[in-house]
Amino acid sequence: MSVRVRIAPSPTGNLHIGTARTAVFNWLFARNQGGTFILRIEDTDQERSRPEYTDNILAGLKWLGLDWDEGPLYQTQRMDLYRAAVQQLLDQGSAYPCYCTSEELEAMREAQKARKEAPRYDNRHRDLTPEQRAAFEAEGREPVIRFKIEDDRIIQWDDLVRGTVTWKGSDLGGDMVIARRAPAGTLGLPLYNFVVVVDDADMAITHVIRGEDHIANTGKQILLYEALGKAIPQFAHTPLILNAEGRKLSKRDGVTSVADFEAMGYTADALANYMGLLGWSPPEPMTERFTLAEAATAFGFERVNRAGAKFDWDKLNWLNAQVLHGIPAEQLLEELLPLWQAAGYEFAGEGDASGGLSPDSTKLGGADRPWLLQLTQLIAPSLVKINDGVGQAALLGHETVEIQPDAAALLQQVSGAGIVQGVLEAIAQQPVTSSEVAKQIIDQVTQTQAVKKGIVMRSLRAALMGSLQGPDLVDAWLLLNQRGWDKSRLEKAIAVATQA
Ligand code: GLU
Repeated sequence: MSVRVRIAPSPTGNLHIGTARTAVFNWLFARNQGGTFILRIEDTDQERSRPEYTDNILAGLKWLGLDWDEGPLYQTQRMDLYRAAVQQLLDQGSAYPCYCTSEELEAMREAQKARKEAPRYDNRHRDLTPEQRAAFEAEGREPVIRFKIEDDRIIQWDDLVRGTVTWKGSDLGGDMVIARRAPAGTLGLPLYNFVVVVDDADMAITHVIRGEDHIANTGKQILLYEALGKAIPQFAHTPLILNAEGRKLSKRDGVTSVADFEAMGYTADALANYMGLLGWSPPEPMTERFTLAEAATAFGFERVNRAGAKFDWDKLNWLNAQVLHGIPAEQLLEELLPLWQAAGYEFAGEGDASGGLSPDSTKLGGADRPWLLQLTQLIAPSLVKINDGVGQAALLGHETVEIQPDAAALLQQVSGAGIVQGVLEAIAQQPVTSSEVAKQIIDQVTQTQAVKKGIVMRSLRAALMGSLQGPDLVDAWLLLNQRGWDKSRLEKAIAVATQA
């Protein structure tokens, strides 16, 4: 029997990280088994479902590389199937109309509470006579449809993650609503726990892989499979994603959707990799850094944890850095260019080849593209998130740079003016076209100013970059020289150094 699994998101919000993790596990299992991965959009909640959330979900799954083989199927387009299944249950006497009003149900719950009993439906309309039904209908009452659940039933399944799970029928809250209120004789909107079974059976799903928060639904769903005469799939309930305090990850933790992670500068590869680690660990000799395709070769439920999976930002950051550091500079530049452009950094625009004849000059970055590529190479080793590239290139993105107070103070304390003057004189003779030249100038100024080399380096950094921290000084200087920006920066630094 070939494996068929599905991800079944509800389009009532953007693609949530928990749903995406479930999608990753489904995809990995499908690919491991040579099976089929199906996408079903559970849009029966018409009040809360929005097409833009569906778009976001599809885009997020694609971005992560979770290609599906069938679908997207939309539940709202499958109503006839659900209505037929409700009718089947009514016809065979497994379901019945319940005419209780909301007020009656509320009063029932209050009475149960007063008796310190768990709230449940007491099955009071299960055995109405045709006359009693007719009387309620004559009152204009609209029934829901309830599915019969026997209290003395024991439901058991062999969960691929959690082992044997047992539920008592008496813990399922009494006969369950499967279709909403509707005028007698018509069928109301079917509800989640019911349609999910009709769909999974219709799509011949062999393994239902989903979050542990659905475990309480599984007992009811198994009873529905039985009543509908359908094969019961295998279940795998994956552990919840927890925050640092060990509670279920929620909006308050500042992470919700996959799109948020993308906007924060995480790569799809790193996020998909990280989600693979949220509850699963790869076998030796695999390491924690893997692609989805690599994980698919090794995936199995025997290595899925039962315990909740703590969300670990440090690990995600580490993975993201690994991914970014492995991307060729040309490709990284494609990602950085729009960010640098948005930040207003000064470089030629698209196709702006004026003054340059580089073979790349028709692409974004124009004549400055070779320079931008060197800038990318300079900052690449220290990138954790792609967005870090904005801050890390900030000191090189403009002709002039603001000299920060600590850098200005340094220039003023030591013999900063003399050092910068010495460097200016040296570059008038010999522009800094190689690191050898740069080092020669530094040595020369160290001697003529009779100071320690470290002081020269720090002063030069303060003068050229306006900051005491930043990328490799000599490499940065070479970049500034190519744009003709080192001279003007040094001149401005002299003015600052002599301002005391
Ligand atoms: N629509 C449900 C959800 O988003 C799917 C549950 C299931 O996988 O059965 O949680």
